[in-house]
Amino acid sequence: MKMSKLFTQTLREFPNDAEAISHKLLIRAGFIKKLTNGIYTYMPLAQRVLVKISNIVREEMNAAGAQELLMPFVQPAEVWQKSGRWQVYGKELLRCKDRHDNEMCLAPTHEEVITSVVADTINSYKQLPVNLYQIQTKFRDEIRPRFGLLRGREFIMKDAYSFHTSQEDLNREYEVMAKTYTNIFKRCGLDTRAVQSDSGAIGGNVSHEYMVLTDTAVGENDVFYCDECGYSANSNHANSILPVEETDGGYTEEKIVDTPNTKTIEELAKFLNIDANCILKAVAVIADSKPALIMIRGDKEVEETKLLNALGALEYRPMTDDEIVEHLNSSPGFISYRDIDTSKVKVLFDNSAKGMKNFVLGANVKDKHITGANLPQNIEFVDVSLVKEGEYCPHCKKPLKVTRGIEVGNIFQLGTKYSEPMNACYTDENGQLKPYIMGCYGIGISRTMAAAIEKYHDDFGIVWPVAIAPYHVDIVPVNIEDETQSKVAYELYDKLNELKIETVIDDRNDRAGVKFKDSELIGFPIRITVGKTISEGLVEFKIRKTGEVIKLTPDEAVKKCQEILSN
Ligand code: ATP
Ligand code: MG
Repeated sequence: MKMSKLFTQTLREFPNDAEAISHKLLIRAGFIKKLTNGIYTYMPLAQRVLVKISNIVREEMNAAGAQELLMPFVQPAEVWQKSGRWQVYGKELLRCKDRHDNEMCLAPTHEEVITSVVADTINSYKQLPVNLYQIQTKFRDEIRPRFGLLRGREFIMKDAYSFHTSQEDLNREYEVMAKTYTNIFKRCGLDTRAVQSDSGAIGGNVSHEYMVLTDTAVGENDVFYCDECGYSANSNHANSILPVEETDGGYTEEKIVDTPNTKTIEELAKFLNIDANCILKAVAVIADSKPALIMIRGDKEVEETKLLNALGALEYRPMTDDEIVEHLNSSPGFISYRDIDTSKVKVLFDNSAKGMKNFVLGANVKDKHITGANLPQNIEFVDVSLVKEGEYCPHCKKPLKVTRGIEVGNIFQLGTKYSEPMNACYTDENGQLKPYIMGCYGIGISRTMAAAIEKYHDDFGIVWPVAIAPYHVDIVPVNIEDETQSKVAYELYDKLNELKIETVIDDRNDRAGVKFKDSELIGFPIRITVGKTISEGLVEFKIRKTGEVIKLTPDEAVKKCQEILSN
């Protein structure tokens, strides 16, 4: 490819609406163009990377015995009504009507369609198991599309679905997919960690997320892990043992005290001169339009997904001050679980409250708290709190560490969550109809490209892993008008092309500095500069990753390319 012909445009500056480094670099290096929020054109450079990732995915999925198909992106409401998700899938599902007034949607995922296709095709247990996948566009009307391709509204996903006659067989396939995923990401140059996760809207019980761990702040998930025993879990699923499990406020009797202007835990702790972990905090929310109250230890925070699961809700928001008066008959900042009408308000107690004695509690009256309170005996506790760094591993009690992670893949055991409501059955050995036992397995193809950049970049630009680099080699003649330089550069170019090494020649009549900058920004793994030293028969060979520069003859440079690229 001649650089002068490459359909792209590098920018001098970073775009100012981008936060994530991958987003900034993808735009600035000419990989993507924004059409509107969360929707991008993949320019030729990006498309080459996506094809490479997709091909790795294909090779590994095929080797694991899965078969590729391609399902419709625009889908009728009926299949979604059949599974029951038409009603419960939130606004991420973009709904529309066709010209006949039929309700349709843009596919955010394909469980419904694959389940009906399989039910239509497979009758007997003899035809199972089967694992089917596709690589395709998805649309999710994300509330906060941000970070470029990390969280787009339109994005590319590989999604696979497996169908089984038993839980054991699903377990077996789940293991096969787990290995396949590790291989896929490794071949893309990415180390991943499989962490236990929440299954969210997709449902099911067992699931793991494949995270690329990055310390850059852009990953949206905190991953807690233990170096000692290997435990790792996403923040929405992690448990911990608290360093201080039991707390005693030290108040010997229960009484109501004046606590003026102490609406926050900090203010109250300071006023009473006690630790926050001796205060029982109340978090009042409206979840799916119903009021709920969460009681949690003062030094702990609520974890969003855990709370939604505990409430069986799709979304929640904090109560307004007026709603606190209306639903709880209480005063904002002074809320107690006591005297709440539990037929109208769901009250949850977080695990962290379990070890509290003689604590401080709101009195449901402005500027008043109760000191020396204790919980009644028969309370059921739930886990709705966010784990914090420094808390202990639930398995081996060593301190947990936290890092940011980008979820590039996800595997789920769905069981019969879709087959049952959709009445998708096979006939077993005894002639009986049974719902399929299912698994599903996703990989964000476009997100993986962005995650690779998050992981591999420096101050000058992207540093592509060889396996997914858009091109391997960038040949830069310092002065294209110099006959010798131009001749050697083109000879090298032809030779590398012959060897099927993907090469760009920067034939632009630009200053060398401009070409070098673009070369580093785009992230070619190898740059070969043909400049003045060609009079001594030498070119400059530069490895992007290490910055190492060596002088070689053109023939040696070709060999060195082969050597590096075959590794
Ligand atoms: P998230 O929790 O990040 O919203 P998810 O768990 O809802 O993602 P899945 O349904 O598990 O996503 O989809 C499988 C894979 O698709 C994810 O692991 C991720 O790599 C990718 N993916 C999901 N949503 C997006 C998005 N908005 N933009 C880009 N890739 C996405
Ligand atoms: Mg997921």
